[in-house]
Amino acid sequence: MCFRDAIGIKEQEVEEMTKNKSQEKDEKVTDMTEWKKDHMDYIVRATACGGQIRAFAATTRNLVEQAREIHQTSPVCTAALGRLLTAGTMMGIMLKGEDDLMTMTIKGDGPMQGLTVTADAKGRVKGFVYNPNVWNAPKYKGKLDVGGAIGRGTLTVVRDQAFGEPYSSQVELLTGEIAEDLTSYFVTSEQVPSSVGLGVLVNPDQTVEQAGGFIIQLMPGFTDETVDKLEASLKKIHSVTQLLEEGLSPEEILQKILGDMDLELLDTVPAEFYCNCSRERVTKVLLSIGEKDIQEMIDEGKPVELACHFCGKKYSFSVDELKILLAAAKARKQRG
Ligand SMILES: [Zn+2]
Repeated sequence: MCFRDAIGIKEQEVEEMTKNKSQEKDEKVTDMTEWKKDHMDYIVRATACGGQIRAFAATTRNLVEQAREIHQTSPVCTAALGRLLTAGTMMGIMLKGEDDLMTMTIKGDGPMQGLTVTADAKGRVKGFVYNPNVWNAPKYKGKLDVGGAIGRGTLTVVRDQAFGEPYSSQVELLTGEIAEDLTSYFVTSEQVPSSVGLGVLVNPDQTVEQAGGFIIQLMPGFTDETVDKLEASLKKIHSVTQLLEEGLSPEEILQKILGDMDLELLDTVPAEFYCNCSRERVTKVLLSIGEKDIQEMIDEGKPVELACHFCGKKYSFSVDELKILLAAAKARKQRG
């Protein structure tokens, strides 16, 4: 049996529905908001079928909303970034070393141009889209056209290990819908048959109502019987969005898919939007741009403000500070 055909390309159709502005729905949203104040983002790690399957599921509404607020993303960009951030939380905790980092970059020929997400092994993610102001038409009623906004292109995954060389792998985008592209990545680059489901629901006021997803993978030694069972179970899931609409927790999502396959929940990891930028890092970036550019900034006679791509935090450098930096750049060059 070809396992790739069996499950690798089994897609979870992911939809983002812009909710109807009915009175009834608004009331429901208000109630949910109360609940969400205490609701933390987290990832659940699990196994099933005696270790033949490993599974992850995440709820990420807060961190996706935080990313939306930082980057002021349009709904389709919120959906794209939210999906990749959600995948990042789960793929981050797959990293082996606790100081390892993973960066996923999607580059496309569509109006969004692309997006980047970095994840660490502790459930922390950060990310941004290249053009956050894409207002394309929905593919069909209510469904945001993430694939259309991203277009054709590539997905690159770089893993930075605390020890050893970074590992980089690239695949062509299948659809630009992200879950499908990650499934393809797992199968072709890591040779791990996987099913990835990601969903983001956007409210009429553009805030994030719900976000989450799952990654289910077959481990070496899996049997045909396991593949058949898993495939049959995944077929019953219409979309992640529907599971989110139903208000299912990550545990309940895994229960729904793997409940009759000896599901064993292993641990829960908090997930958050986190940026580790600092003045020191930004200074290094400034130093790296070269003497000529720093000189030009000094000649303009005004302080320079640099913003972090990931979190938007602004760092200001006065002309005097730029002069010190220029001297440092020159000294560095002399040292060769
Ligand atoms: Zn930052």
